[in-house]
Amino acid sequence: METFERLESNVRGYCRDFPTVFTQAKGHHVWDEQGRRYVDFFAGAGVLNYGHNNPRLKKKVMEYLMKDGVVHGLDMATEAKRAFLNTFEEVILKPRGLSYKVQFPGPTGTNAVESAMKLARKVTGRHNIVAFTRGFHGMTMGALAATANAGKRGGASVPLNYTTTMPYDGYYGDDIDTVMVLERHLDDAGSGLDKPAAVLVETVQGEGGVNPARFEWLKRLAEVCRAHDVLLIVDDIQMGCGRTGPFFSFEPVGITPDIVTLSKSIGGIGLPMAVVLIRPDLDQWKPGEHNGTFRGNNLAFVAATEALDAYWRDDAFAKATEAKGRMVRQRLEAIQRRFGDVAVEVRGRGLIQGIVFGPEGFGDEVIHQAFEDGLIIETSGPRDEVVKVMPPLTIDEKALCEGLDILESAVEKIARKTTGTATSDAA
Ligand code: PLP
Repeated sequence: METFERLESNVRGYCRDFPTVFTQAKGHHVWDEQGRRYVDFFAGAGVLNYGHNNPRLKKKVMEYLMKDGVVHGLDMATEAKRAFLNTFEEVILKPRGLSYKVQFPGPTGTNAVESAMKLARKVTGRHNIVAFTRGFHGMTMGALAATANAGKRGGASVPLNYTTTMPYDGYYGDDIDTVMVLERHLDDAGSGLDKPAAVLVETVQGEGGVNPARFEWLKRLAEVCRAHDVLLIVDDIQMGCGRTGPFFSFEPVGITPDIVTLSKSIGGIGLPMAVVLIRPDLDQWKPGEHNGTFRGNNLAFVAATEALDAYWRDDAFAKATEAKGRMVRQRLEAIQRRFGDVAVEVRGRGLIQGIVFGPEGFGDEVIHQAFEDGLIIETSGPRDEVVKVMPPLTIDEKALCEGLDILESAVEKIARKTTGTATSDAA
């Protein structure tokens, strides 16, 4: 690690939780230079839904490189981009009855969010965007203004403007209807809320602590937006591409957002790519008005096209994800019951499930222990209190069990260390 400590900026983060040098990765496994094998329950923060070096996607990428296909194309028309657009229309949009124009912003999630916010403001002529408590949308100034975490906001060093934070579902407990709070503010000319251009929401907050909004809440949110002529932007950057089961996380809710942001796993094999899906009449960009040098990552288009072809032509992949999610949930609930004095709650949807720990620092200790024992897993939430299970969706049952066993044993070790007791109840 000497090289990294000497040369790499202090801003580096994940390498502190996983202090080794990684060399190889395949499917749901990663190896380091000591030859240690880790089960991956992190999946590159949601980038690797189809696993590391997915063989089918890798083959296409290698063939494309070998034939000297265009790698970098700005936003020029290429064969690879055309194939992606046609496949996206055929496999994703049409079967779901969706009609969106596709914008390729810079290839990161935050740039997709910047584009969506800019466009909503431009189209409506309003500056304000409503975002939510515990929301996470990225690190550039516009997206950061919509991100709730105080530590991340502090990195801006200037006031973050033109957004208003409203309470997410469950923020005051399950009994308080927080859409009603937003509705009341929008209805009342004396509320002090500047009428927003858009509401920006995650259906399940990933970084904010694995908080799934209830479908009823999301449905009402969409209705309130429509009634007040406010655009609805769903940020599906972490929850899209099948993380919760269906391709889009909002599908089972029965809502159609005006704008959708996707990134992370859309690039299939881990190559940077982002898209903004825009209701056609809102596509009021002037040519080049939001541009960026790396919008044409053609290798990502190739992998993305193959991923859609391989996994999304029917609902088998979504169903398998939901089944794996149920299995993880049952195991986490058993762990929570066994360690009920420290584990408070299990929550999630599909193959993103979190176990919440009460004592300060417990979640961090668990992930560090798990790493020592061969599992890559992260925390989320404002106090890192939620241990987040987010493996590649392609993981098999054996590896899921192996990872969950490591997690349970890590919880046991930390419970014994911090409270001096570990329940002996069978999980
Ligand atoms: N939006 C959501 C919901 C995210 O989870 C993230 C990243 O975790 C982002 C936006 C930002 O994406 P990126 O880190 O690629 O800029």
